[in-house]
Order: sequence, then structure tokens, then C-alpha cells
Amino acid sequence: MLKGRCLCGQVTYEYQGEITELAVCHCQQCKQAQGTPFVTNAPIETSKMKWLTGADNFKSYFSSPNKKRVFCQNCGSPLYSQRTDMPESLRLRAGTITHGKIPEPHYQIYCGSTSDWLVLNGKPQYEQNILKNLVDKID
Ligand SMILES: [Zn+2]
Ligand SMILES: [Zn+2]
Repeated sequence: MLKGRCLCGQVTYEYQGEITELAVCHCQQCKQAQGTPFVTNAPIETSKMKWLTGADNFKSYFSSPNKKRVFCQNCGSPLYSQRTDMPESLRLRAGTITHGKIPEPHYQIYCGSTSDWLVLNGKPQYEQNILKNLVDKID
């Protein structure tokens, strides 16, 4: 079983199943919807998802005529996307999961729009937020 929540905590959920598939999506729509260079989406079964609180806080945006992206209208956390012709499944945003096992991604999709500026090998790592001009060794 998995548990998760949005950033503000108004939306909470339990998924009565396991993640059996995890995709890294590089499509331009996901990047703009999340503000990140790629997104991790888990296709899961709608019937096993229990929205415990906050479902009345959902806001949907149809990025395509048949696909909605659902987020918390209080804090903006992206929660899932769903196609109108596939109501039995939804694609959960894995970053909202707080408890339970998340596998390594199984595959990457829309690799034609990969963010080629995201090269992290060898960059300094910190436990906390920093600013570049406060640390000597960052170029
Ligand atoms: Zn929220
Ligand atoms: Zn995408």
C-alpha cells in the first residue's frame, strides 16, 4: 500500500496496491505542468485509489482534449493525469508519494524532448538549500 499527499496537505490518499510500472516522461507538457525537466509517472488502477481528504480541492486542466491534469487548487501540487477514454487508470505523480515502495523507473518516454541541459554528474551535493555566491567552490 502507498500513501501520499499534496504539498499543503489538504489532499491525502491511499493506494491499495503496488506500483508495478514507473515512467520517466520527458514530454514538453509534463515539463511545463510540473516546472521540472522530467516527470515520474506511475500508471495505477483508479479503483484502488482512495482519496482520503481534499478531493473537493481538485482542479483539472485539459492539456489535450482527452487528457486532464489534476492538481490541488490550494498549493498547486500536481497529483495525476487521466485520459477520458481510459477512466480505469490514472497516472500518479510519484513525487507526491510519502509512504510505500517506489521502484526504479522502468522506462523513459518522449525522449525526443529530453532536457539536454540537465547534466548532473559531478556537481557538488548539499544536504540543504544553498546559493552559489555563498559557496566558494561552485563555478
Ligand atoms: Zn495542496
Ligand atoms: Zn509527459
